[in-house]
Amino acid sequence: MSRLEPASLGYESKGASVGVMHIPGHENQRPREVSLDEIRGLMGDCRLCELGQTRTKLVFGVGDPRARVMFIGEAPGKNEDLQGEPFVGRAGENLNRVLGLAGLAREDIYIANVLKCRPPQNRNPKPDEVLACSPFLREQIRSIWPDIIVTMGNPATHFVLKTEVGITKLRGRFHQMGHFRVLPTFHPAAALRNPAWQELLEQDIAMLGEYLAAHPVEQGAAPVVLPAEGHHDALPTVDAAEA
Ligand code: URA
Repeated sequence: MSRLEPASLGYESKGASVGVMHIPGHENQRPREVSLDEIRGLMGDCRLCELGQTRTKLVFGVGDPRARVMFIGEAPGKNEDLQGEPFVGRAGENLNRVLGLAGLAREDIYIANVLKCRPPQNRNPKPDEVLACSPFLREQIRSIWPDIIVTMGNPATHFVLKTEVGITKLRGRFHQMGHFRVLPTFHPAAALRNPAWQELLEQDIAMLGEYLAAHPVEQGAAPVVLPAEGHHDALPTVDAAEA
């Protein structure tokens, strides 16, 4: 497959604001208009950053395309890179375990990462990699249009909440971000190394469960009203200056 260039995807790789990716065949890209398959198809054999040279499999995301809750992590690790699915290693086992505290199972949610390809030796994402890759995450969020986004760890939290404030200060409460309720929490891999963080991760996910139980989606409830306008503002931006 040919090498992808940002311009061919309808966004610029340089400049102040590069957050909006235009999907071919969609005029206005309303929430839930573009399918996850279309976004995955657009990524193809992505080579927008150097991670395209070293990955085994591109890890797009997994779960319910109409999930009420979307979980966002940092980047695939070794197992994810081999299997092409997010959170399947030890961090994934921890995530699966804590999901139960909210009465959720993996198939109830959608899981994606800021980066779709594994950084060598699991190093931190580089700003240019986040810049190249995060427009796809932004479109995944718009496609799913969840009520709640749980950001796990700093890179996901910083992308979604557009802040540099650390996770320890942000976790433990919901933040409203346009349409979305955002719950930042510790990354399940980091929590495995720190029992105090594990306890706080569990508290946060239990709090998510309390919120879901207190705000059930009734059978036969009116369909979700999807905004025709203003949804670009509701989504995280991809900003070259900040990336
Ligand atoms: N850590 C992440 O952030 N994402 C994965 O998919 C696996 C581990």
